[in-house]
Amino acid sequence: MKIYSLLKDREQSFFQKSDHGFDFVIVGSGAGGGLSAFLLSQYGHKVLLLEHGPFVKTADLSQDEAKAYPLLYQEAAARKTSDGAITILQGRSLGGSTTVNWTSSFRTPKTTLKFWQDEFGLKDLREDSLAPYFEVCEKLLNIKPWDISPNENNEVLARGLKRAGLKAELISRNVLDCQNLGLCGLGCPTGAKQSSLQALLRKAPNVTIVTDAFAHSFSLSEKKKVKELTLYPRGKKSGQWRIPIKELIVSGGAINSAALLLRSKSPDPYKNLGKRTFLHPVVLTGAHFKESIDPYYGAPQVIYSDAFMSEDPRELGFKIEVPPIHPLLLASVLPFGSDQHRELMSLISKTNAMIALQRDGFHPESQGGEVRVDGQGRVHLDYDTSEYMQRGFRKALRVMGRLQFAAGAKEVLAIHRHAKKCQNLSDFEKEVENLSMQAHDLTVVSAHVMGGCAMSLKPEDGVVKEDGSHHHLENLSVFDGSLFPTSIGTNPMLSVYALVHKLCEEKFGKG
Ligand SMILES: Cc1cc2nc3c(=O)[nH]c(=O)nc-3n(C[C@H](O)[C@H](O)[C@H](O)COP(=O)(O)OP(=O)(O)OC[C@H]3O[C@@H](n4cnc5c(N)ncnc54)[C@H](O)[C@@H]3O)c2cc1C
Ligand code: SF4
Repeated sequence: MKIYSLLKDREQSFFQKSDHGFDFVIVGSGAGGGLSAFLLSQYGHKVLLLEHGPFVKTADLSQDEAKAYPLLYQEAAARKTSDGAITILQGRSLGGSTTVNWTSSFRTPKTTLKFWQDEFGLKDLREDSLAPYFEVCEKLLNIKPWDISPNENNEVLARGLKRAGLKAELISRNVLDCQNLGLCGLGCPTGAKQSSLQALLRKAPNVTIVTDAFAHSFSLSEKKKVKELTLYPRGKKSGQWRIPIKELIVSGGAINSAALLLRSKSPDPYKNLGKRTFLHPVVLTGAHFKESIDPYYGAPQVIYSDAFMSEDPRELGFKIEVPPIHPLLLASVLPFGSDQHRELMSLISKTNAMIALQRDGFHPESQGGEVRVDGQGRVHLDYDTSEYMQRGFRKALRVMGRLQFAAGAKEVLAIHRHAKKCQNLSDFEKEVENLSMQAHDLTVVSAHVMGGCAMSLKPEDGVVKEDGSHHHLENLSVFDGSLFPTSIGTNPMLSVYALVHKLCEEKFGKG
């Protein structure tokens, strides 16, 4: 691969040419874009990959939160829904969210695929038709069950589940020679994480990469085709660079892909674009233990439970995991006044946290959010949490408190503006019963953004066809997590990879 930066290398002759003859231009280098570039280059095509964020070498990953978030995340890890209620973590550097994600690797649940077949007619997305693509992606990314002892943060979850009579399941991870450091969210400093950059782009022939390049919008020809893409150097409003397009693949990830299509005024006669954007909204509880937990060390997520994920996705369902806890990340989710904030921060080494990821997009009262672009081209996500979802939040807080006390916690705290620490389960349950589950009171976060350019059989129901091509534009495909017509109901990275592999091979592969 050859890498240029639109911010730093603008004087190079590469940027002076008017046409480079690229067969494919791809926007975004995360799971969808990275895999598309890898495959298309293997099929022998000449590929240009454009990435908004910088290329950060493994040796330059600083392990310093204050540097990592502005460098590697959308909006310095402070992206929020338009009402400010939900914080959204999304990657923005070469490798996209796969550079900063926590490596938990799951196949798409069969209940989700069944729902897509029954409700959206997506008959080709079945367990058996996707299985070969999961297998190939698992090999490419070295996805295997984690066979080293869980860190204490995960051990608390395992112990709590066991004592509650539930099974602690083991998570598979996409790593090679992992040193168990626990810095995945700041970019892996050893190169062990098999991100799209590490596992795919580094091995891709015929791919030219331009980083620090923000794809603002594209123009259309009269023949319903994308004609030209306009880019700006990251953070600048001048210094446009225009690229003629033969075939455009949009892989900016949910929110961003819809925003690019909205800024470009792409045809959307049925007003589906940006709608049905999903978050797996996450609520949290914290617990303090007598002994050290040191939740910043060790592989971040290796234990989970789907005991509260009902078989029927129309019913409430949430997955339980633990997050890694680093000081800045913890400080940013605690909605408390200065004394309590200081006290909780000082207890970080003895803190365990649990997270419940709620499945969204299946129930009539959980139809996701809507991406909007304002007059300045800035992107917003409107996302309301309905009463139905709030019931799920309350249930999840109760369950997590129960698991933490079962594991031996001294005290448990719902991460909620008005919550108080409780020393036993019955007080905690009463406390949770009385708390409002309204946005802003309860801390809600997301690291799983999906949907907004949904696949559909008919143009009336979505943005792209079942093969990922746009319903109204001949040379535009969307290959990323924005394709999903609902949330996945589990950590989505591997679902993005497998689905994009299938679509890319069937549409552009040889033979
Ligand atoms: C902190 C964190 C932890 C996570 N942990 C896990 C986990 O453990 N397991 C799991 O399954 N999932 C996890 N995820 C989610 C997972 O990484 C994503 O679902 C997946 O990477 C989505 O792939 P994508 O291709 O849709 O988008 P992304 O991987 O987000 O890539 C999109 C890329 O496109 C670029 N881009 C966007 N718009 C433009 C534009 N206009 N011009 C140029 N470039 C653009 C972005 O900068 C970004 O680099 C995590 C995410 C985060 C943020
Ligand atoms: S645990 Fe450490 S070594 Fe392993 S992938 Fe994460 S950051 Fe890299």
